[in-house]
Amino acid sequence: MKITILTMCPDLFRGFLTSHVVERARERGLGQVEILDIRPFAGGSFRHIDDSPFGGGRGLLLRPEPVMRAMEEAVRRGPSEGVVRAALVPAGLPYDQRTARDLSRCRHLILVCGRYEGMDARLYDRVDMRISLGDYVLTGGEIPAMAVADSVLRLLEGNLKEGSAEEESFENGLLEYPQYTQPALWRGRKVPEVLLSGHHERIRIWRLKESLRETLRFRPDLLEKKTLTGEEARLLEEIREEERSTNGSQSYGTDEADEDAR
Ligand code: SAM
Repeated sequence: MKITILTMCPDLFRGFLTSHVVERARERGLGQVEILDIRPFAGGSFRHIDDSPFGGGRGLLLRPEPVMRAMEEAVRRGPSEGVVRAALVPAGLPYDQRTARDLSRCRHLILVCGRYEGMDARLYDRVDMRISLGDYVLTGGEIPAMAVADSVLRLLEGNLKEGSAEEESFENGLLEYPQYTQPALWRGRKVPEVLLSGHHERIRIWRLKESLRETLRFRPDLLEKKTLTGEEARLLEEIREEERSTNGSQSYGTDEADEDAR
């Protein structure tokens, strides 16, 4: 797969291009990232890439032609099949793991970064999708583009240890369960006993239950969207029962983990 990022701030990607996930994808021949500077695609000696909005208002917008030319060049340089062009913009579809997985199946992902007050709106007709990283406004599309590229590259088959992506947050519609490492006792806090037991089935059930607990606590909206298996429904009911018995006091995640460790 190829990811091309169109930006007027190519220097911002220097560190990103040497990051582990990008280098590993390149070394393994799974994916490569190219940064394409939009500025040279602006004609004239001033490389005039921006202008003020029609109708008045503050700030500047990226002019459509340099961005469009950069996009056409990106298409020319990459695989011609399986191209997805995505603009990073707050007024876009909220980015999530499912979209990351979908994008990881395309052959050429072109990410267009806005700056200033954004881009000329006619450019949005020339992309396949608009991606928003969340309900907040960043200075440019470069950080969102890095986030999208990173999340997509780590899903490419062979770029992660087998099975590790499947167990991560959102993959099964739930947040990840809490994880612990050495030492088993840290500042008076023990690791839940079950994790030291070596009993795979008990560990699996504990993880699923804690995954449900984390989701109920931090992202109950995910539970509303998820079709629960019989086992998940039973475990969720256990969690709710535990909560009721502690009379609504905060008994989520870590406290429960403590309880298990005693
Ligand atoms: N005037 C725009 C608005 O109110 O929606 C904000 C423009 S923002 C300062 C400049 C650029 O940053 C955008 O064109 C976009 O590429 C990027 N950007 C900012 N926040 C973003 C977000 N939440 N998701 C994706 N891209 C974002």
